[in-house]
Amino acid sequence: MTRRLLLAAADSRSARRAVLAAPGGRAVVARFVAGETRADAVVATDSLVARGLGVTLDHLGEDTRDPDQAAAVAEEYVGLLGSLDRAGLARRAEVSVKLSALGSGLGADGPGLARAHLRAICRAADTAATTVTVDMEDHAATESTLATVAELRADHPTLGVVLQSYLRRTESDCRELLGAGSRVRLVKGAYAEPESVAWADRVEVDRSYVRCLRLLMEGQGYPMVATHDQRLIEIAGALAVRSGRPQDSYEFQMLYGIRADEQRRLAEAGETVRVYVPYGTDWYAYFMRRLAERPANLGFFARSLVGH
Ligand code: FAD
Repeated sequence: MTRRLLLAAADSRSARRAVLAAPGGRAVVARFVAGETRADAVVATDSLVARGLGVTLDHLGEDTRDPDQAAAVAEEYVGLLGSLDRAGLARRAEVSVKLSALGSGLGADGPGLARAHLRAICRAADTAATTVTVDMEDHAATESTLATVAELRADHPTLGVVLQSYLRRTESDCRELLGAGSRVRLVKGAYAEPESVAWADRVEVDRSYVRCLRLLMEGQGYPMVATHDQRLIEIAGALAVRSGRPQDSYEFQMLYGIRADEQRRLAEAGETVRVYVPYGTDWYAYFMRRLAERPANLGFFARSLVGH
């Protein structure tokens, strides 16, 4: 129930104003968001890479409302990739992109516009010798996101995509993405979805995650195991061993500010670990999804506000 309320608040403009107006609100957000500017993002990346971690950078923002904004988002990503390259960080840092931020929701022309912007970002990533992963949004976008990624992979074969284990369709999507070079980030899923398309029961979501993980580990692609769930992290390690995968043939991924101790522990054990680092001014919806995942964070949020 709390999760549904928080996810509903993620779309509420008045709730956004309340977080912003609260004394210390921005400071609390800083636990999950690396900063507002590209320079902040590069500093955070540098510090994580120095600690032996990889990074995927997300310029915050979704549901772009006009073509100029979509173009500005694409330009930001292209500029960011140039900055990472010049700073010598592109070897360990890639980018994560949402198609809705690139304008996919802008009417009949939206999907084509987003595809063109994604292509420009992929070209910039190729120049910097790094990769792009397309985030997955709510279930209404699954089919078109997978189609876009399939189309662009013809020219950019390292383009990765996210699959969500809470969707009933995902095991079958995994089977389509088992080929050599296929980069798939497996997550549980962060949106409020109807039971017609998604499991509501957390146990079912976890079972689906394990089934998908097994397929991906036994496949020819590059699985990206994105979870903070200790049991799933251990199962992923065991499945990798059982599938005869060397440690550099898959990776673990976690969000900035969440379980940093476990990120370090895995990296010290020789695993490849990548941290998802969001930055930018449009942090509100991302922040609310993080609160929804873990009601304990609400306590942290409330205490921090009182303390400021
Ligand atoms: P949970 O069962 O939610 O959590 C397991 C344990 O992890 C918790 O008990 C707690 O100890 C810890 N934990 C989890 N979340 C938090 C938190 N917010 N604060 C503190 N501790 C926490 N979702 C999408 O729908 N689309 C995407 O494109 C997408 N990309 C992602 C990329 C990465 C790298 C990661 C790590 C997640 C991404 N997600 C995405 C979010 C994902 O779907 C889950 O909502 C999120 O990862 C929480 O699920 P979990 O697997 O960590 O398991």
